[in-house]
Amino acid sequence: MSSPAALTADERARIEAKSALFDPPEPTTPDGRRDLVGLSRAQLAAELVAIGEKPFRAKQLWHWIYHQGETDFSAMSSIARPLQGRLAERFVVGRPEAAMVQTSQDQTRKFLFRFRDGQEAETVYIPDRVEDRGAVCISSQVGCTLSCRFCHTGTQQLVRNLGPAEIVGQFMAARDSYGEWPSPHGETPRLLSTIVLMGMGEPLYNYANVAQAMRIVMDHEGIGLSRRRITLSTSGVVPMMDQVGAELGVNLAVSLHAVRDELRDEIVPLNRKYPIAEVLAACRRYPGASNARRITFEYIMLQDVNDSEAEARELVRLISGMPAKVNLIPFNPWPGSRFTPSTPARIERFARIVMDAGFAAPVRQPRGQDILAACGQLRTEGQRVRAGAALAPPPPAG
Ligand code: SAH
Ligand code: SF4
Repeated sequence: MSSPAALTADERARIEAKSALFDPPEPTTPDGRRDLVGLSRAQLAAELVAIGEKPFRAKQLWHWIYHQGETDFSAMSSIARPLQGRLAERFVVGRPEAAMVQTSQDQTRKFLFRFRDGQEAETVYIPDRVEDRGAVCISSQVGCTLSCRFCHTGTQQLVRNLGPAEIVGQFMAARDSYGEWPSPHGETPRLLSTIVLMGMGEPLYNYANVAQAMRIVMDHEGIGLSRRRITLSTSGVVPMMDQVGAELGVNLAVSLHAVRDELRDEIVPLNRKYPIAEVLAACRRYPGASNARRITFEYIMLQDVNDSEAEARELVRLISGMPAKVNLIPFNPWPGSRFTPSTPARIERFARIVMDAGFAAPVRQPRGQDILAACGQLRTEGQRVRAGAALAPPPPAG
């Protein structure tokens, strides 16, 4: 009989094979130049060797691309002119095109990025209200295969995975928008100081591309964001949670949202495959879970659905003994959604029970609501236009 470890490895291989079916197109321009953004260091070196250059050039280019944020080869002053020209013939340092940028009254900025094949995804920058820092909320897929009932992205089918260039590119283009280049060193304050993989899509159903992108972001000779400043949110893809812990060691956030399988099956349908007990067991195994690196449990507050005091007590029982915090997210409505956000009084009571048990339980303040940039409101403009087009009456004949 197979051991549980072998079963998990099989499951992981199955997930990765399925994910590969949704891989992005090759990152090349219509005239055949390859985008250097998103390549690992080894891949970048291989591209250079392929055009007869020495591999050490990769280090120089890496610095220009990820430390300086330079996109124009002719401005890369440490590279000799003839080589600049040869690079420009074959390569580009790309960025996703910002098809729309909206800044909310509260300074939250939402970007709709369009990729080379016309697909789009949203990215949100959420500045801290007081200090000069902020989180960039990045998308990992166009659409999502899961259909959590409260999530706007979940109403849209998965179109495809985003590639490393598109994932890192969201962060780099957001940095362009604030002019934050070169990359600040070490602990120097940064405006775009953390990454949360909480935009559109389930990052653990696109693990290979997300992992490659995060390795690039964490590289010390480039953007140099520490793994402690990156949080990956998952709806609970158990076999891949172990892999993230072992390979990336970023902070983990888990979208729990319910304390009984019966309800979670309904609102987070992935629960039918990986029920609450398995998700929590994976959290307990997550490496580095110490007081300083707590697991975040995200809990959406849906009026009369999951917000009772009994549920708060059950939540505390489920996570007891774990280095954890609970992020309470008032439901953000979107056109056509079926739920109502819990009242502030109910959220307060729920939070009180969790806090009295010794867990931090901040209530996430919705940001950027005037531009539909809050959690769970993201969806691509392109899809909306197409859906609208499908509903439009046919043109008159003749
Ligand atoms: N797929 C991953 C990451 C993207 S969703 C996941 O589900 O964790 C990021 C967070 O936004 C999740 O916790 C999700 O449950 C939450 N969310 C989704 N829709 C929401 C809504 N309408 N209001 C508030 N939070 C929502
Ligand atoms: Fe997908 Fe996360 Fe939305 Fe669920 S909450 S549909 S997993 S993006």
